Amino acid sequence: METEINSKRILIIEDETSISDIIKFNLEKEGYRVDTAYDGQNGLHKALEEAPDLILLDVMLPLMDGFEVCKRVRETSNTPILMLTAKEEEVDKVLGLELGADDYVTKPFGMRELIARIKANIRRTDVLADKLNAPADVQAFGNLEIDMNRYEARKNGTALDLTLREFELLKYLAEREDRVFSREQLLEEVWGYEYYGDIRTVDVTVRRLREKLEDDPSDPQYIMTKRGIGYHFKRA
Ligand code: CA
Repeated sequence: METEINSKRILIIEDETSISDIIKFNLEKEGYRVDTAYDGQNGLHKALEEAPDLILLDVMLPLMDGFEVCKRVRETSNTPILMLTAKEEEVDKVLGLELGADDYVTKPFGMRELIARIKANIRRTDVLADKLNAPADVQAFGNLEIDMNRYEARKNGTALDLTLREFELLKYLAEREDRVFSREQLLEEVWGYEYYGDIRTVDVTVRRLREKLEDDPSDPQYIMTKRGIGYHFKRA
């Protein structure tokens, strides 16, 4: 399995060459193939042309910022995107996730943490690829159908365009219908025990999921808020 992980290609889009160089050095030491871009336009071009297995994306970039790059990549690709955000820019984390980033790492970060996150995000994509070859396991919740094995959800017969994380959250809650989970529990169970993120990540993902799933996201019928506690799934 190690060789499979290590043949993966990573694109670093970061204009600070000192940061880019040290990440590249460490990833290559791990056996990854690494490409670099130093501005947003070139980064977007490489992201679309070379279809890397994961993109490390800085926010502040010349020519096109990281948010725009993220948005444009997401129009056509589900490649995991890990955003590099500055510690003081709390808003960046939330905005990045809103635009479809899978994860973020706060600068300054430790190389071990960064590599652990990269591995975890690539592993998730591999799991998904296996799932897509699995037999269907469709469960119906009113007019919502969830294929638990193949990571597909349909509402009134129309496929929902969910990210991997949105789907995993939906699946986790739907499989445990009516049970209420705190944000901390969801972060641990859906995002993974080793996840360093903050609980707003859960709120942002719930909001995105509702926008795709609910007729009226402000009056949800599936993903319900239990005030002061957390979230639960209810069939509409
Ligand atoms: Ca920068």
